[in-house]
Amino acid sequence: MCGIIGYTGEKYAPEILIQGLKKLEYRGYDSAGIAVSCNDDTVICKTQGKVDMLEKKLENINMRGSVCGIGHTRWATHGEPSDINSHPHSGGKNVTLVHNGIIENYIELKQMLAEKGMTPVSETDTEIAAMLIESLYDGDPVKTIFSAISQMHGSFALGIMFRDFPDTIFAVRRDSPLIIGVGENENFIASDIPAILPYTKKYYLMDENEVAVITKSQVAFTDENGRNIQKKLLTAAWDEQSAQKSGYKHFMLKEIHEQPKVVADTISAYKNKTELFEDCSFDFDITGRIYITACGSAMHAALLGKQMIEKLARIPVSVEIASEFRYNDPILDKDDIVIAISQSGETADTLAAVRLAKSKGIRTLGIVNVWGSTLAREADDVIYTYAGPEICVATTKAYLCQTVVLAMLALRLGRHKMEDSQYCAELERLSSLSDYISKALELDDICRQLASKNLKAEHQFYIGRGQDYCVCTEASLKLKEISYVHSESYAAGELKHGTISLIVDGTPVIAVMTDRSRIAKTISNIKEVASRGAAVICVTYDDIDVSDFCRDKIVIDAPGEYLAPVIANIPLQLYAYHIADGRGNDVDKPRNLAKSVTVE
Ligand code: GLU
Repeated sequence: MCGIIGYTGEKYAPEILIQGLKKLEYRGYDSAGIAVSCNDDTVICKTQGKVDMLEKKLENINMRGSVCGIGHTRWATHGEPSDINSHPHSGGKNVTLVHNGIIENYIELKQMLAEKGMTPVSETDTEIAAMLIESLYDGDPVKTIFSAISQMHGSFALGIMFRDFPDTIFAVRRDSPLIIGVGENENFIASDIPAILPYTKKYYLMDENEVAVITKSQVAFTDENGRNIQKKLLTAAWDEQSAQKSGYKHFMLKEIHEQPKVVADTISAYKNKTELFEDCSFDFDITGRIYITACGSAMHAALLGKQMIEKLARIPVSVEIASEFRYNDPILDKDDIVIAISQSGETADTLAAVRLAKSKGIRTLGIVNVWGSTLAREADDVIYTYAGPEICVATTKAYLCQTVVLAMLALRLGRHKMEDSQYCAELERLSSLSDYISKALELDDICRQLASKNLKAEHQFYIGRGQDYCVCTEASLKLKEISYVHSESYAAGELKHGTISLIVDGTPVIAVMTDRSRIAKTISNIKEVASRGAAVICVTYDDIDVSDFCRDKIVIDAPGEYLAPVIANIPLQLYAYHIADGRGNDVDKPRNLAKSVTVE
């Protein structure tokens, strides 16, 4: 959450900062702002609202000649979204900064600064950090930053400017991500790779307990004893194109349509003709329980992973919401393993769950989309999803790749229960999965038509059993996130224990049926709601006749039953998209939400 960008070079900094912020807007859009060095001063321009509003405001401000600056797009944690609470924040005469994270002890720091006669103008924790640095500044920025962060508790990625050093950006982080982009006669700081891709693919990952000093010709890293730190220069695997809309109306639609490719990439990274995960250091011999911990959609992928692993490998799996797991004092045994799933690899609660498991000596495996992210670095082993950059706040392709990795994991863990020939047949099925996803994308028209029938419905329900219930959890969240329609997912057999009282004439109910062993049972549940007036859409196979009790049917085809939930997701993503778009919503930037949840 919160996007940070910084630029120092020879080009007009405000323009580069604005373009960078547009690439980071998925991280928050409560407000936006920039600060640049201009005529021996630091000039700040900021506003509540999205980056477009900042761009408009900048039309009337002269920042001519400025070639160094920092920018921010905010997801408010402390203080309402407002002009005054927007970043950058000034600490006084010298210091201006942008911040991603939460300074947990900001109240104590604020009191301490008040005794020195310093009073903030905003309600943010960030301004207190700026004032603290200002209060400690003695002409040596690096020393001052180290001294300030030793007094700060919580999480932060900071991009800092000092008026005395107009062409230099200083950066530091703890528990919030930050990269340093390295170009030709220009360098950058950014919360995420897409912001630097138009200029360079070369970057450094920032580590904790170091300060980066960035000018147009040099990037230097210093530890708290003033020693120089040598770091590896990395090359981003993503290209600029992958972070652009490429003719689609929304990133979400583009990302849904990228799924055949990214799923194929993810599978081929870990599969050869006869084996899965052959080059993976992870030890697949698990004798204890598996705990899968995650938040949001990744947690829904985990629910599906549980179904797949228990079915194919018969290993008991518990799915734990990371923000609960970390505080539950979980009972873990030394043979257990904790799998953590996070698209960004920066999800604060998921990272905390991994740290907890590690502190108890439990093996951890991360499933993550961002190379070099904190989860990738901290988990004992990593399996990457190859979804590429996901810009729409609501996840589609990253979630789908997570389910595919879990399907592969289930297959690999269940290998010893299968004949070689059966295992090879399953591998073949996996190889064809992306063709089936392409076929499912052809359902776009019917999904649009069904969405237009239900555009005005304010409540919708999703029902299914077992693996199909797991699909419902994610489909229902997708609808809520982007369309603001109230929606609930229910295990189909559970509806009559209360929620069925909400079904009235015309209430849309989406029923998912891919697990053939439970179809007869789910049909009974569909009949229960249909006889109370529900307008049922059924997502199922061609040979299942639902015409008597369902208003509509979406036909899917899958290369095997345990992979069918992966396919069933696709039309439901499209359905949610068309409802949100049909209601005129900003699909890629739904209200109140942000991606990459780096706060607890
Ligand atoms: N705590 C800061 C604010 O509210 C930054 C929030 C964030 O990084 O999400 O302005």
